[in-house]
Amino acid sequence: MQRLTQARGARAVAWSTPWGTITQGLREGLTKAENTMATLLRTGVIGLKDWLYWVGVPVGSPRCECGWPRQSPKHVILSCPLRTNREAMLLAAGTENYNTLLSTQKGLKAVTQWLISQNVLNQFRVAREIAVEGKGASIGPPLMTLQ
Ligand SMILES: [Zn+2]
Repeated sequence: MQRLTQARGARAVAWSTPWGTITQGLREGLTKAENTMATLLRTGVIGLKDWLYWVGVPVGSPRCECGWPRQSPKHVILSCPLRTNREAMLLAAGTENYNTLLSTQKGLKAVTQWLISQNVLNQFRVAREIAVEGKGASIGPPLMTLQ
């Protein structure tokens, strides 16, 4: 009985890992461009029309090209009919839940990679071209580098 209690205690400790530790691991395996995209998505500061319109960039309206009233990240990622290969992305992410997509390593990797490939943000066209050109060189730097 005492052993069982100890085992439960150990598991409780594992569960109470602070969020900070998990968040650090979220970015592992992301390229520089994917990392930037992850930051944009998680902060909501992103060059889609909904946000551009809201901050005063003359884009006309926050409307998406598909006719949806707001071109928000959530709309583009989960429901815009103009986007392709969404099913493969959601399969790779292992979830269709927007919050899970942005808060798990697997979800972030799949969604940032997909969004860059979708060519919706001008600033990421360059990153996509680099990724296509230098396929072999796309392995990120080691986690710990001495500089
Ligand atoms: Zn749309």
